[in-house]
Amino acid sequence: MNSITIKAYAKINLGLDVIRKRPDGYHDVSMIMQTLNLYDTLRIKKTKSKSLTLRSNLHFLPTDRRNLVYKAVELFHEKCPIESGLNIHINKSIPVAAGLAGGSADAAATLKGLNNLFNTGLSLNELMAIGVKLGADVPYCLLMGTALSEGIGEILKPLPHMPDCYILLVKPSVSISTKYVYENLRLDGNNISHPDILTMISALEEGSLDKLSSHMDNILETVTAKEYPIIEKIKEIMKDRGALTSLMSCSGPTVFGIFNDKEKAESAYSYFKSSRYGKQIFLTKPYFPKE
Ligand code: ATP
Repeated sequence: MNSITIKAYAKINLGLDVIRKRPDGYHDVSMIMQTLNLYDTLRIKKTKSKSLTLRSNLHFLPTDRRNLVYKAVELFHEKCPIESGLNIHINKSIPVAAGLAGGSADAAATLKGLNNLFNTGLSLNELMAIGVKLGADVPYCLLMGTALSEGIGEILKPLPHMPDCYILLVKPSVSISTKYVYENLRLDGNNISHPDILTMISALEEGSLDKLSSHMDNILETVTAKEYPIIEKIKEIMKDRGALTSLMSCSGPTVFGIFNDKEKAESAYSYFKSSRYGKQIFLTKPYFPKE
């Protein structure tokens, strides 16, 4: 095999709780993750030279060591030396810096792709051990599906599949720094309410989309809602237009809405497409890898 094409899927956080700030500066989290049927496509090609060349359809995306794909190749190479050069093309569809883990998904897909292309036979756990060095979300992006993510994101437990639904994504044109959001999160405030992750898990076990939706929550909104009113506004509109619920994914700024009705989802999608609330709007569904 001389080349491989692999999809890198976006994720949202159906629930995101921060338990505590650790002495090392990281945060212990408890999150329910869900893969979406929205993906970047990576084409990895062997070349005769010894070098790595990265290209992408987005001119502003770095193609050097700052790109997680580049770092993923280097770390894979440390574990399994590759006797070949590589050309990698990343076709990005996942909005960048959006709270959808696009970079982590690309890194995870690169590790999987290289493992297949070079027949290196690394297990999922071995790939995850490489992945966590690239970012806390990378192990989940290797696992995919519906999962509980704890620790800094590296302790993963598969959960029953999220019930079928339509998921509307709207990314407003604001940039939110993940670092800023975590630094400004106050866990000691009197009126901070933590998402009920355990009840969400029982809703998944019961297969109840209504119960699941009614408990979806993201503690990071306590920071972003104050700073970026557009996030609350998009949430309100989604709910007015029939979403069971709506919340921000990860540290934002993408807002998602959960719909059980196709027509309402499509009508809300059209509304946002013709509105000024965001340029990047997608109507998608949960995605589950073939088992
Ligand atoms: P998360 O949900 O994990 O917080 P995100 O969706 O907010 O991630 P990314 O799209 O992963 O953010 O991008 C964050 C930063 O990472 C960007 O500033 C971008 O320049 C850099 N980056 C490095 N590699 C990639 C990649 N392959 N795709 C997208 N961004 C990348």
